[in-house]
Amino acid sequence: MRSIRRGDSGPAVAEIRSILVGLDLLTTASDVFDDEMDEAVRAFQQNRGLGVDGLVGDETWGALDASRWRLGARTLFHSVPDALVGEDVRTLQERMLEMGFDAGRADSIYGARTARAVAQFQREVGLTPDGSCGPQTLKALRRLGRKVVGGRPQWLREAEAFRQAGTNLVGKTIVIDPGHGGGDDTGVVVPDGPLRWTEADLVFDLAARLEGRLAAAGMRVHLTRGPHPTEPMSGADRAALANSLGADLLISLHLDGHDNEAADGVAAYHYGTGSGLSSTVGERLANLVQREIVVRTGMRDCHIHAKTWELLRLTRMPAVRVDLGYLTSPADRDRLVNPLFREQIVEAILAAVQRMYFPVERDVPTGSIDVRQLRMALSNRA
Ligand SMILES: [Zn+2]
Repeated sequence: MRSIRRGDSGPAVAEIRSILVGLDLLTTASDVFDDEMDEAVRAFQQNRGLGVDGLVGDETWGALDASRWRLGARTLFHSVPDALVGEDVRTLQERMLEMGFDAGRADSIYGARTARAVAQFQREVGLTPDGSCGPQTLKALRRLGRKVVGGRPQWLREAEAFRQAGTNLVGKTIVIDPGHGGGDDTGVVVPDGPLRWTEADLVFDLAARLEGRLAAAGMRVHLTRGPHPTEPMSGADRAALANSLGADLLISLHLDGHDNEAADGVAAYHYGTGSGLSSTVGERLANLVQREIVVRTGMRDCHIHAKTWELLRLTRMPAVRVDLGYLTSPADRDRLVNPLFREQIVEAILAAVQRMYFPVERDVPTGSIDVRQLRMALSNRA
């Protein structure tokens, strides 16, 4: 089709305008493509990752058309080979991510990963996990939106064992694993004038801060190592320690490094084979930790990934490893060496742990838990 552009008028323009009004990008309906509409089209293109040229060609029209779908207007499911596309899918994906279910990127396409996230959500609220989003699932989503507690759901077996431990942090055992640190295992090292930043020291500092905050919230906290252990520890050693303590959760802290100093950002890892077999609770913990850190610190989101590393494979509790930025990136390093920034990371992890113990029905949006009020919230519930 010929691109519709500034200066055009007619029914096609009127239709596009009405979509833009529906998206709150324009305020007035008419059939004239004016400057205001040109700006609205560009804003839309920018938002959807399209080429920003203010022209409504095939691609922009397709995206505009898809944006008309509002969540609830149709049943969503994983359709093969032509996937369902639309604003409703995007809203759902954002909702899933927000609640800690890994729907991948919010790309408006209802693919296998979105269906899997929906199925995981359905299991947790006691619905048939068919991976499609119809009236029942929408009802559950809306109910959660209003923060009303539902009936007792039938959890996944793994989730059930986790939930049976109760929703309170008090008395739970958490193992914090600062990476590296034994013998001459320093992890990533970056010289900085007379100073020398090492991954082992920085993650130990983070672990010690986290230990204090989690203990203050009533958890039993164990670190896998002290500041300067004499012997290096393998992933298997660390997993065995956590298993022997009967821990409820394990969080392993690392920093990343790369030859290219432009590499930066935070990533979280949970147990999984990549072929679909994965620890549901571990994946959710990874998602919550990742989301809280990204939202609260603004670090680049390098997403969560399934790995079969010893530490993740051999631990019997939900376990997550998080790589908290690149020590080799000047931008990440400047922030990581600042104790106030490390405190922000600690608060993000604390909020994620707290959310793990909220029932899904009572979960809250990312970044919204005020961790300073954690103790108060806990004592109110007691
Ligand atoms: Zn490391």
